[in-house]
Amino acid sequence: MLVHQKQLKETSCPQLSVLLLMFLSTLVMCETDNYLKQRDAILKREQEEFIGGNMVLTQKEEKVNGYLLELKKNELVESYKNFSAFLPAKNFLIAKEDIELSKVFQFIKKVPKAASLHTHMLAGVNADYIIENFSYMENVYGCYNEMQVFKLRVLKDAKQDGNCSWKSLKTYRKELQQNNTNFDDFLKSKLTLDETFINQSRENVWAKFKNLFSTIYDLVSYKPLFQKFVYQLLKELYDDNVFYTELRGTFMPLYDLNGTTYDAKVFFETLMATVEDFKKDHPNFLGVKYIHSIYRGVDNSTLKNALEELIYFKSLYPDFIAGFDFVGLEEDGRNLLDFHEELSGVAKDLKFFFHAGETNQFGKTDLNLLDAILLNCSRVGHGFALAKHPELMVMARNRDIAVELCPISNQVLKLNQDPRNHPAAVLLSKNYPIVICNDDPSAWGATGVSYDWYVVFMSMTWENHGLAVLKSFALNSIRYSGMSEREKINALTVWERQWDQFIDDILENLS
Ligand SMILES: [Zn+2]
Repeated sequence: MLVHQKQLKETSCPQLSVLLLMFLSTLVMCETDNYLKQRDAILKREQEEFIGGNMVLTQKEEKVNGYLLELKKNELVESYKNFSAFLPAKNFLIAKEDIELSKVFQFIKKVPKAASLHTHMLAGVNADYIIENFSYMENVYGCYNEMQVFKLRVLKDAKQDGNCSWKSLKTYRKELQQNNTNFDDFLKSKLTLDETFINQSRENVWAKFKNLFSTIYDLVSYKPLFQKFVYQLLKELYDDNVFYTELRGTFMPLYDLNGTTYDAKVFFETLMATVEDFKKDHPNFLGVKYIHSIYRGVDNSTLKNALEELIYFKSLYPDFIAGFDFVGLEEDGRNLLDFHEELSGVAKDLKFFFHAGETNQFGKTDLNLLDAILLNCSRVGHGFALAKHPELMVMARNRDIAVELCPISNQVLKLNQDPRNHPAAVLLSKNYPIVICNDDPSAWGATGVSYDWYVVFMSMTWENHGLAVLKSFALNSIRYSGMSEREKINALTVWERQWDQFIDDILENLS
């Protein structure tokens, strides 16, 4: 440029200088223009590739979108000035109440979210409900077992059971009161993780997390309570605008007060009957499917038997049983590779929904993802490590395998503190099939899936990503569910009706 100016000074004709100056400015403008055009084109491509990027919104939806984006921007603005002011980066164990004050969260609560596809049955009911409704019952007893885990169950009378010296909760309450300890608080500490776990190691958090299931297992195996428990689980989802769910569970040996213990058939029939009762009371609730989940530390012959048993029950309840999964800390148990022969052998009879890649390891436990994909699983639970494996990402996309994204679980169970750094942002950026799930909501005091939707929406999408993203999450939850094609068509019809009503309700409140 300096050279050009020098040349201009030396030009004898002033008119020519002006012309040259104009020509050069135009050239610079064109260059800038080209640069900006190129920049815009790249952004446009990125936006189009993002989940919901190609979705065309109706005029009504555009208005609601404008409102939502205003709310989102208002909440994000503080975090641009102060990195630590970002609410979803605060651990959920202390952030829950603040999240509930968020206008974006309140908006998301109202969104018809369709389905929740990854919820563990035993961690699906809020602890406050259990304390209030179960722990004051006459025949509920507690004891510390040989592992020093506090267990609950229903008994006719107090008794000694191995190392367990069962004592009624009435007695426990009195005793603790004498020591100025509130029994409800004590019980809550046995049913949930509290903020003291925020700074503990992943191993410690998982050890406590596993105990939560042991505490409650016998209590909710009591047949009458099991029914109430399942009903409440569905209610918590339904109240969060979820109309269908897939529950991971295991055959619980239901029992009654006379000491009768029932077999797996009774477990299924009680579970299905409770779902039917709930549907009768809530006609917009579409149903439940069951994903049988066993501990990943089993030996091969135990697995073989479990698979045979499941195939038998699938033949009895083909519409109810969705498939099979393993549970437990992935780094702790055996890998999918250890079971590939047994699993391949039943792949034509059962669908798989494996937890896989729920780990920070690279080239080790995360390779469960490779086996999950090779075994043609229908969805991957967590898939936290998937973004590290481009080849697997391509394979999973080609096979249309969705990832069940559970960001709060990943945070509380110490995989990822700040969800802005969650690897699933990579998947969302490429419109990879994602469904948002709540995993074990009662363990961290959540109900429904809205908290997880909120965290993903605020942390893993752009400031200008709005309603289309939320709509995609809901549509994906139907598309990637274990429902049959006929059930999906019905679910879509019901959801569209709910969605239109939701849009009208928001617009009415805006006017
Ligand atoms: Zn899970």
